[in-house]
Amino acid sequence: MPELHVELAARRYPIHIESGLLRRRIAALAQAPERMLIVTDDNVGPLYADALKQAIGRPDCPVWRMPAGEAEKTLARFGELLEHMAERGLTRDARVLALGGGVIGDLAGFAAACYMRGIAFVQIPTTLLAMVDSSVGGKTAVDLPAGKNLVGAFHQPQAVYIDPDVLATLPEREFRAGLAEVLKYGAIADARFFGWLEDNAEALLARDAAELEGAILLSCRHKADIVARDETEQGDRALLNFGHTFGHALEVLLDYGTLLHGEAVAIGMQLAADFSVELGHADIGDSQRLRALLNRFGLPTALPTGLGADAVVAKMRLDKKAAAGRLRLILWRGVGKAFIAGDVDAGALTAFLAAQS
Ligand code: NAD
Ligand code: ZN
Repeated sequence: MPELHVELAARRYPIHIESGLLRRRIAALAQAPERMLIVTDDNVGPLYADALKQAIGRPDCPVWRMPAGEAEKTLARFGELLEHMAERGLTRDARVLALGGGVIGDLAGFAAACYMRGIAFVQIPTTLLAMVDSSVGGKTAVDLPAGKNLVGAFHQPQAVYIDPDVLATLPEREFRAGLAEVLKYGAIADARFFGWLEDNAEALLARDAAELEGAILLSCRHKADIVARDETEQGDRALLNFGHTFGHALEVLLDYGTLLHGEAVAIGMQLAADFSVELGHADIGDSQRLRALLNRFGLPTALPTGLGADAVVAKMRLDKKAAAGRLRLILWRGVGKAFIAGDVDAGALTAFLAAQS
């Protein structure tokens, strides 16, 4: 696998993508003298924590585990982890190894960002979503009841280690949710990749190793490029939020329980595309292509029933991605052509959503 790097103004860090990586020795970690703490959840820990300990040559590396799921990405769990770090006597030179999906990566990364004003951490993502999206780029956060990711920090990892083999144990629904974020890169900026996904949808769904590695590599390259251009989301990086302002509103309104993040984003991308068609920015053929591919990946595209358009728009306004006073949304000119719309009319959006439900 070719080496990928995220190039930042101050430094660069590697993304290693290698099948079987966790079954071998990770030299850079094995040789590091610092104390380490593996942070993981109750699903991933029993499956992969021992392998990671072997890979870093530390059979006695401590492991902190928490219950799995978005509902656990809370200030309370974050506080527990920080207290555990202090009880263990971790000092400023210690490293946190985040082993898990986006929930663990976000929470462990935020703890690393805050503990002693910031210690190093490494991402070892184990879901497809975390491999292609959350583990790269340095956004860390926890949720509040009022909204997703409302408390957080930018804190870049030292390195990202991706072993696609661990996807073998990922539940089917989680795997498909991850495909939503893979597809997002094609939808916003890479029509060729979108076409490749259309051609290879079945192989991806079968988790064919070569296709999967290819999709992860290309997704990480897109993410790394955008992060390098715009580390703290002053401009272009906002394109990655395609489908997310809609999606976050749905996640919050449904109490994070009903839809997985990737599923909410799938619906959000389709809504953003259809709304763009209605506003005359995109052709209906493109939004039909999007719906067809999302549906082939087994992802939802329709607004869940029972949600009022006003409530959705109110939550969208609260989303931190909306600039003050106006509604900022990522809209679409078609496959591979997302753009930032700075001043979206909330009335038109409400009418559009009301017509969907
Ligand atoms: P997740 O972390 O909840 O993982 C999904 C489920 O899969 C969990 O039950 C987990 O225990 C289980 N799991 C993980 N890896 C497994 C494996 N290999 N085998 C078996 N089970 C496994 O969810 P996610 O979808 O990975 O991440 C979603 C989170 O990521 C959200 O909180 C979202 O806000 C965040 N996110 C952050 C960024 C960012 O830039 N920081 C970007 C996108 C998403
Ligand atoms: Zn996302």
